[in-house]
Amino acid sequence: MPRSIYDQDHESFRSSVREFVDRTLVPRAESMIAEHTIPREVWLEAGKQGFFGLTIPEEFGGAGIDDYRFNAILGEELGKFNAATSSCFGIHGDITAPYIVALGTQEQKQRWLPQVASGEKILSIGMTEPSGGSDLAALKTTAVKADDGSGDWIINGSKTFITNGYQCDLAVVAVRTDPTKGAKGISLFVLEKEDEGFTKGKPLDKVGQPESDTSELFFDNVRVPADRLLGDEGMGFISMMQKLPQERLGNAVGNIANARQILEETIEYTKERKAFGQPIGSFQHNKFKIAELVTKVEVTEAYINDCVMAHTEGDLTAVDAAKAKWWAGEIQCDVLDECVQLHGGYGFMNEYRVARAWKDARVHKIWAGTNEIMKELIGRDLGL
Ligand SMILES: Cc1cc2nc3c(=O)[nH]c(=O)nc-3n(C[C@H](O)[C@H](O)[C@H](O)COP(=O)(O)OP(=O)(O)OC[C@H]3O[C@@H](n4cnc5c(N)ncnc54)[C@H](O)[C@@H]3O)c2cc1C
Repeated sequence: MPRSIYDQDHESFRSSVREFVDRTLVPRAESMIAEHTIPREVWLEAGKQGFFGLTIPEEFGGAGIDDYRFNAILGEELGKFNAATSSCFGIHGDITAPYIVALGTQEQKQRWLPQVASGEKILSIGMTEPSGGSDLAALKTTAVKADDGSGDWIINGSKTFITNGYQCDLAVVAVRTDPTKGAKGISLFVLEKEDEGFTKGKPLDKVGQPESDTSELFFDNVRVPADRLLGDEGMGFISMMQKLPQERLGNAVGNIANARQILEETIEYTKERKAFGQPIGSFQHNKFKIAELVTKVEVTEAYINDCVMAHTEGDLTAVDAAKAKWWAGEIQCDVLDECVQLHGGYGFMNEYRVARAWKDARVHKIWAGTNEIMKELIGRDLGL
């Protein structure tokens, strides 16, 4: 089906992202896996291309574009390359930077955003804790006012599974500032990697996405001045609820783009690989299977395109973003599993993109709110 949501400007932007992927990412694909990191020079190059500053106002070094379709194109093209780059760059530019843009004071924006846009300062966002991620309102990390009248805050606790956690220069963290108020007692702070008492664990050993670093963050009496509070005290939970739909839509966009890309590569494989004297794709079972997969991807893309347009116009609801997130993650995992099957034994070999994509995708049903939590949100909206 022809796609109608992108115009010429969007497509030229897509070309520049593709060029970046081909020139900067593809040659490093293997070394990023071996070294378990996206090197700084790649972040800086992406920053130079303007990919991190799409929605950062021009006065703070960004492009100030108020059109989510550009973010979606970036997510699609990175998603086609691999899930890890898409998620690490997404956490930085598409997920965490918007908190500073929306909630930061003029001084905070001036202090952090130019280097966020340039890729010199890498962002992470810390919500999940060892004791739980789904029940965000129950988080335990605390910030209490120092009793010396300085207005400083003292932060104690820890976060886990934090994307970009090991490399990050700045971390936006959700902490409890009022133990008596549940969700209304949560606030956001920006920590800088130099803050005394702020330490990082080693990158965690994951099943997939080896290129991304995922770490624990520890806060041991981290003393920060009052101007590290991001947004109003007690408004952290509400801010997260407002920002999570974009994170979930971004996931859906990248995940379905990845599924389509690997499926296309698989279709080519099934045209070339022969068994019993004929291409494996020509067996009726496989032909029908591929027809089903293509249909699933295209139908999903149509819903996601609608969500992208709704978000561009400021109308995306949290419930629709939840639908897009769980459905795209599920479809991606189903499609990639069948793609592995169609590759036979090669599909289980790490050197094959299909095998890596399959392992990388599993977490998409878990992070950014598990698929069960997405269904909980949808069910609640139905009055159930
Ligand atoms: C690679 C990776 C990167 C991540 N990056 C980040 C990051 O950058 N920042 C960040 O803050 N977090 C991050 N996370 C954390 C992620 O968001 C959480 O793992 C996720 O929200 C689930 O939380 P949990 O692991 O504590 O599982 P739990 O909350 O313990 O849930 C365990 C199981 O119980 C189910 N469950 C819980 N509550 C309900 C319910 N009400 N109804 C039905 N089922 C329920 C869940 O769906 C899940 O299946 C990352 C995780 C991974 C694996």
